[in-house]
Amino acid sequence: MKIADKTTSAVSMVKEALEKAKQYEDYHIFVSLNEENALKKAKEIDEKIARGENPGLLAGVPYALKDNFLSEEGNTTASSKILEPFHAPITATAVEKLEKEGAIMLGRVNLDSFAHGSSTENSYFGPTKNSKDKTRVAGGSSGGSAVSVALDIVQFATGTDTGGSIRQPASFNGVYGFKPTYGTISRYGVVAMASSLDCVGFFASDPEDIDLLMTICSGQDPKDQTTLPDFYDQQIGDPRRAIRVMRAGSPGAELGEGAPSDDSWGSTQQDPNTPATSQFAAQKIGIVKDFDKGLSPEIKQAYEQEIETLKEQGYEIVELDMPTLKYALPVYYIIQPAEVASNLSRHDGIRYGFRAENIESLEDIYGKSRSEGFMPENKRRIMIGNFVLSSGFYDAYFLKAAKARTLIIKEYDEAFEKCDFILTPVSPNPAFKLGEKVSDPLSMYMEDVLSVPLNLAGLPGLAFPVGKTADGLDLGLQLVGPRRSDKRLLTFAKELKEQK
Ligand code: GLN
Repeated sequence: MKIADKTTSAVSMVKEALEKAKQYEDYHIFVSLNEENALKKAKEIDEKIARGENPGLLAGVPYALKDNFLSEEGNTTASSKILEPFHAPITATAVEKLEKEGAIMLGRVNLDSFAHGSSTENSYFGPTKNSKDKTRVAGGSSGGSAVSVALDIVQFATGTDTGGSIRQPASFNGVYGFKPTYGTISRYGVVAMASSLDCVGFFASDPEDIDLLMTICSGQDPKDQTTLPDFYDQQIGDPRRAIRVMRAGSPGAELGEGAPSDDSWGSTQQDPNTPATSQFAAQKIGIVKDFDKGLSPEIKQAYEQEIETLKEQGYEIVELDMPTLKYALPVYYIIQPAEVASNLSRHDGIRYGFRAENIESLEDIYGKSRSEGFMPENKRRIMIGNFVLSSGFYDAYFLKAAKARTLIIKEYDEAFEKCDFILTPVSPNPAFKLGEKVSDPLSMYMEDVLSVPLNLAGLPGLAFPVGKTADGLDLGLQLVGPRRSDKRLLTFAKELKEQK
């Protein structure tokens, strides 16, 4: 991460980023720019540096904020009409932590409305374009985040990953995208999509940068009951953590404290940051039988090539039989809309956001505001969600999906007894054409077949770039780790990058 210091001013870094953001306006990355505030903050950082004060681990680093994070700076839209206008009275914990270290929000970036989608085409503000081909999708839902990093406008961007929204756009744009273990980063102040799946994570061009962001942003938050006790960098004793802990003055978070014994996901026997087999981050890499079926030739080739490279580098490849994973997509598309339907019920046109005109009754306020304010994809999910939860169908759909989810969790746990990480593609195809799938929801959902399984089990996943198609489109693969193996997973990614 390039941070401001005596030779590079924060103001110049922010100005350069703003210029680039404007230069790439036709990619439709930003929903709003935070120009005035960003420059003001940059000036403050420069003054701190001049006074010899500590400006923070991310001093002057401009970043892109996915527009489903609340912050008192500007309005949050979640790329929807129904939140317009919405000025949040609070700031997300993750944003607070970044800003405390001197990071500067350059602007808010586009997403599929409420993070529902895999292409950023469901945005109320129109689609973001792919960084390598403007006729293709950016991926989604964090399309704006991925493209802002890929075009080198910012050094990092925030994202949320409920079923692949960080990893898939990262792989469509040739950058790293990390979804941590469920509960690692607080979701306080993040617009909820499906609460048993939602995770905050990051995009960057280097796993080292993501590691730093994880060190800064992970940790238990009393404002988010689903956060896990601090674990991210405890075993490895990252010195940067000591700095963070000292600054935050948070009790009970001293260096060297052991891994938490309570783990809401059930504990693995082994310390997840210590690989089963060697002193390196990993030795045995799992590949899932039949997971190479239905892939586009380019992805298949990149996947096979990576497996070969790993073998040549001395890693042992372990084939895993995971028959339950084929149910992950239908399970996800039952559980996720059920939670979406519940979370979106708060948008009723009463307290905040959009309210339809020509209202004649209370029902009208709800009905008209919701029908005019939500995008078609939001409404589809609300309807599916209410259907699978409704009496008479609950047992057949929601309950069955919840049981299948438990089997998927168990299958992953068993798999990680045989290997350190699992390698799979992120999506079956490289970035598809704008408009190609948006009117065919089923084919859009099918794009998520390889990205959603790990979300159901709360596991960390890292998308990393592995090359390009003949047409210059980016290709990515993902590494999946056991719960709370986040630090080791990023360490492994660094090792792989160094070996390339
Ligand atoms: N593409 C998936 C969906 O549409 C994932 C979205 C997400 O992770 N926010 O549900």
